[in-house]
Amino acid sequence: MKIGTVIYEPTIVDGFDISVYYSKRVDGVVGKPAKGMYNDITCFVDAKTLRERPELVALSENGPATRTNKAFTLPWDFVCPTNEEYQSSILRFIEDTAKEDVEGVILNLYHFPEEKFCTCDRCSKQQRESGLDWLEWRAQTVTDFIRRAKKLVKQPFGIEIWPDPILAKERFGLDFEALAEYVDFFHVPLSSHNYVTMYWVDTLTRDFKKLLKKPIFIELSAEIPRDVETKALLRTVAYVSSHDVEAILLLVHDAERAKEICRTAVNDSNYRGWLEKFGFENMNKIIERWEKIY
Ligand SMILES: [Zn+2]
Repeated sequence: MKIGTVIYEPTIVDGFDISVYYSKRVDGVVGKPAKGMYNDITCFVDAKTLRERPELVALSENGPATRTNKAFTLPWDFVCPTNEEYQSSILRFIEDTAKEDVEGVILNLYHFPEEKFCTCDRCSKQQRESGLDWLEWRAQTVTDFIRRAKKLVKQPFGIEIWPDPILAKERFGLDFEALAEYVDFFHVPLSSHNYVTMYWVDTLTRDFKKLLKKPIFIELSAEIPRDVETKALLRTVAYVSSHDVEAILLLVHDAERAKEICRTAVNDSNYRGWLEKFGFENMNKIIERWEKIY
């Protein structure tokens, strides 16, 4: 099992096998491709573009896919995923990233915003002409975008998924079975402010392990500043590591925070005794490695 970081600065931290950098973010900020790292690219959420070109927004019968639309509780503003010009600009960005010496490419938010989207004229016309029902047309639209993106990337290629094992197809157009054909791995973010209560992480890890036909990366938030929460996080990492996952990724703001987690784990004899007692071998190996560095 590998351990990694998801980080907002293009920095590789010692003691981690995988480093994921957000090179295009939900706010529309675009960074340079980070060499030696997995570059994570946000596709159809782009606050900056939508401020400049609001006509690109995804639509529903209850209005646009924006945070200010009270008919929904969307966390971001979404671009309609069938706008060809915008699609091409994203595919170009993916292609340019893959041309650099990057370790891998991950896409996020490449799907529909929610169940009722998108009913713009173009999407309605495309669905009618496809002869498919609404559910299938949406799923095929998303899978087709991933298929096109995959062709541009020679490095390991993965996609983030919204962590809903039951309704992902209805809500976002995510057909896990079909998508598995075009990806090397699935990246599943199980984000939380803390993991003091964590049974749901264990449950979702089991569900996705069973459901997804490719290796999975589980992402946990590690931007937690207090000691008690860091300890809860470390226990959660240990539980996830006992399932057959390809990697666990820790979301950190910067390299210093990642190092702090390593030091806490190395120096916490209670934690290490607990790992030993319950036989968390994968986690033990990671900490033995960290011990040599931190
Ligand atoms: Zn549309």
